[in-house]
Formats: sequence, structure tokens, C-alpha cells
Amino acid sequence: MRKLRSILFAGLLSAAASAAFAAADAKPFTLVLDPGHGGKDYGCVGKMTNEKTIVLNVAKMLGKMVDAAYGDSVRTVFTRPDDTFISLQERAAIANRAGGDFFVSIHVNSVDKRTRGRENIHGASVYTLGLHKSESNLGVAMRENAVMELEEDYSATYQGFDPNSSESYIIFELSQDANMKQSLEMASLMQGELTGYAGRADKDVRQAGFWVLWSTSMPSVLVELDFICNPAAERFLASEKGQRKCAEALFRAFKDYYGRHKQSLSDGR
Ligand SMILES: [Zn+2]
Repeated sequence: MRKLRSILFAGLLSAAASAAFAAADAKPFTLVLDPGHGGKDYGCVGKMTNEKTIVLNVAKMLGKMVDAAYGDSVRTVFTRPDDTFISLQERAAIANRAGGDFFVSIHVNSVDKRTRGRENIHGASVYTLGLHKSESNLGVAMRENAVMELEEDYSATYQGFDPNSSESYIIFELSQDANMKQSLEMASLMQGELTGYAGRADKDVRQAGFWVLWSTSMPSVLVELDFICNPAAERFLASEKGQRKCAEALFRAFKDYYGRHKQSLSDGR
């Protein structure tokens, strides 16, 4: 009896050991978090705060939530962990080098100072890569892509792409990439949580030509949390509570996405 017990025990041990090996072997899901702007690039500037500060705080909160919930099974990689300037090309390179499974770029929206009623506009939009269907979507992509002009010799780095010329954006028409389905799925989950959970107005899932999404070789989204030019939205975005709500909304969407894809991800490896 004792012998039988020890055989059983040994069997259990080896099963536990092989499970541990399998866990050690399994490649973690790599979530790349990209807080927009940073350093000399403030992004959109409001009356109380600015985009680079808000999005860094939200990304850090989100990273902590993911780390606490998933431990070693999900690895978070930041394109910038602090207030430094990182070029769009380098952000994509960091994500590609890390072998990212998903890329989330976090931003805050605004409209031009000359736009009438800019203090009333508000709401969240989650973008995937594609050709814009409206001038306002193109405007958002132009503003985010214009960051490249802060780099010396950007024209060479970005292969002659002119962020201010709508003709340049034709390259994104051909970008029906293999990641579109997953990108759209995450975008709609995030849009649902930002509007439902974080209480942002619904300005829809949209498509536009963002260089940083185009250069990353994984499913990707670009989140515009809300409009900093709207005083109430800015107060929300500037507050710890508001930033936490946004981070929690993105976390809930990630949790949903990861739960749906976990099995197929581990089967595919
Ligand atoms: Zn931005």
C-alpha cells in the first residue's frame, strides 16, 4: 500500500513537474502599451494639463492592472515608461522587437483652436488602421502623425511621407492586413467599455492612417480617450479618478479579448 501510494505520489509529482515545464515554456502574451507623445512633444494641451501626462498615467495604471491580474502569462512592454520623446518609428520598432501580440497606442483628442464650438465636442473613439472615411478622421491622423516633424530629417526616416498632405494617405488604402479582424475586435471592446464603463460619449470605432499603426506588425489600435478642449472632459482626464476609470475600461476590454483568444494563442505556438 505504501508502495502504491509512493508510485501515485511520484506520478502526481511528474505531472506537476511537466505542467510547470509547460508553463515555463509557454511564451507569454506580449501587450505593448504606447503612451503617445512625451518630452518636448506635449501632444494636445488644455487649460489644466496636457496629453502626454494624461496618457502616461493611464498607460501606467493599465500596465499595473494587467501585471497584477496575469503575472507571467502576460508581459507588458512600454514604448516609453516616462516623460521622454520617442519617435513614431522607434515606437513601432520597440513593439516589433518585443514580438508584441497587441499594440495599444493611447492618446487624447482635441480640435483646432479656430473650430467653433470646440468646448462642446466630447467623446471617445478607438481607431484601427485604414483609409479615413471622413475629413475629421483624416484630421486626427494628420495631427498625430505630425509628431514626426519634430524629428530632424524626418522625410528620410519616413520615406517621403508628408503627414500634412492628404495624398500621402493613399498608402493606407492598401493596408488590408491580416491583423484587421483582431484589431477591430479589440477596438469595439474598448469603445464599448470607454462609453459604458468610463461614461464617455460614443464617437465610434473609426479608421484612419496612423503611421505608428501601419509600422507595427501586430494587431493594433489607437485610443482617443476624450477631448481635452472640452473643459468638463479635461477635468475628468486630469483627475486621478478619471484616469483610473479610463485605465479600468481598457483593462476590462483587454481581459475580454484575452479570454476569447487565450486558447487559440497557446495552440498556435
Ligand atoms: Zn496624440
